[in-house]
Amino acid sequence: MTSNTGTKCIHEGWRPSEGEPRQLPIYQSTTFKYDTSDTMGQLFDLEREGYFYTRLQNPTNDAVAAKICALEGGVAAMLTSSGQAANFYAIFNICETGDHFIASSSIYGGTYNLFGVTMKKMGIECTFVDQTLPAEELEKYFKPNTKAVFGETITNPTVSIFDFEKFAKLAHDHGVPLIVDNTFATPVNCRPFEWGADIVTHSTTKYMDGHAAGVGGCIVDSGNFDWMAHAEKFPGLTTPDESYHGITYAERFGKGAYITKATAQLMRDLGSIQSPQNAFYLNLGLETLHLRMKQHCENALAVAKYLKENNKVAWVHYADLEGDEYNDLAKKYMPNGTCGVLAFGIKGGREASIKFMDSLKFASIVTHVADAKTCLLHPASHTHRQMSEEQLIEAGVAPDLIRLSVGIENVEDLIADLEQAFAQL
Ligand SMILES: *Cc1c(COP(=O)(O)O)cnc(C)c1O
Repeated sequence: MTSNTGTKCIHEGWRPSEGEPRQLPIYQSTTFKYDTSDTMGQLFDLEREGYFYTRLQNPTNDAVAAKICALEGGVAAMLTSSGQAANFYAIFNICETGDHFIASSSIYGGTYNLFGVTMKKMGIECTFVDQTLPAEELEKYFKPNTKAVFGETITNPTVSIFDFEKFAKLAHDHGVPLIVDNTFATPVNCRPFEWGADIVTHSTTKYMDGHAAGVGGCIVDSGNFDWMAHAEKFPGLTTPDESYHGITYAERFGKGAYITKATAQLMRDLGSIQSPQNAFYLNLGLETLHLRMKQHCENALAVAKYLKENNKVAWVHYADLEGDEYNDLAKKYMPNGTCGVLAFGIKGGREASIKFMDSLKFASIVTHVADAKTCLLHPASHTHRQMSEEQLIEAGVAPDLIRLSVGIENVEDLIADLEQAFAQL
């Protein structure tokens, strides 16, 4: 319907007709009524579209998923209860016991544990790779049972930039899809499908919600990956599903196959749904996403420049900063800016870092990231504390790294706060 991102943020998803509510209604109902048993049967057989139970589908959730789908330029999307559920479903929808996939080692700590520990217990093996290696080196990690490649557009917390073209080519040369977690960039700043990604995931908890109000996730399918062309690798999509009267998803649903399977099978059986109430809050956040992302980026760049000039700062990583090692990739994939998160280290190591963080007045120490209020975290003491020193280094998380999530306050106030905290050192 619409072509520009900002307009999509506001108008996609819920399109009221004559006399309907202007704002997206919350369908706070577990179930939906039908007149005949026959209609109900057709719904259960996936022969007819319609709502019957909120664990499978709900109109509020579907409207919000449709908005995110339009923003990413995909063909189908589903909401999940969290970003963790989104990444788990995205992989588990195409990997079974005995399968293998490749993930960048520079990813969110929660995803690292999910892939490296929990999914391993399910017999699904993940190889973590250094995403800066050249394609010839990365090539060596593919095995006959490799089913997917996974990375993050902007890595949390090291804020390095994913090289989409390198990984899309590698994945496609091996007949597997590229799955990208686009949480930090959001589709306002980067649309991975335009660079060859096949499936996108989100923790909507971050910028999309934008106000630290609700945990949620989303999976979007580009519809571009041809499952049938690699049928032997993806039997779950290309052979009959006995739990659905022998439906073969890729044949029956074409480009909608991946999301239909994730809904009909994984959501049915595992049930990690987003509540319609949370989907409503998420939609409110999405309505201003384009404005907020612009402000986050402007503020973060000003803060990054300030830190770079500060002689108490050992180093700063922010890809939009001229001279940053990821500046070229950022300019290529995110010409309008990356996000509001940056990473830096303070001279004097851990002790100085902790004193600095404790001295801040309104930039608060929270586990969260990427919302309206400035916050910060020391991953080695907080989110990544379960990781060994070796794993931290492999993930590129320096022991002195401070992750600063720059909010949308007036930037002069933010810099003044940092200034007074540095003065205490
Ligand atoms: C937070 C985060 C997740 C996990 O999302 P939850 O909503 O907290 O479950 C996944 N990926 C990235 C990049 C994140 O920042």
